[in-house]
Amino acid sequence: MTQDPGIDCARLLRQVSEYLDQELDTATCRVIDAHCRECQACADVIDGLRRTVGLCREPRDRPLPAAITAKAQEAIRRLLDEIAPRSLKP
Ligand SMILES: [Zn+2]
Repeated sequence: MTQDPGIDCARLLRQVSEYLDQELDTATCRVIDAHCRECQACADVIDGLRRTVGLCREPRDRPLPAAITAKAQEAIRRLLDEIAPRSLKP
């Protein structure tokens, strides 16, 4: 029985931050869900984002206010700083 989350934390968070002002597709949401079951750090961030921006939950017909996206991106960046190996940083 191999449990492959399919994606690592840094990659996942980058993807989420890229998609913040758009809609995440179902496949990406599923990857995120799977990863969050294995990884508490990401689960916390994604959970917060879901509450803030409705990530993977409600379809949006309006773009998010810039302040909200900025806040969410800031949260992602902070977590990336904590968990991403230095070599992954630009
Ligand atoms: Zn993770």
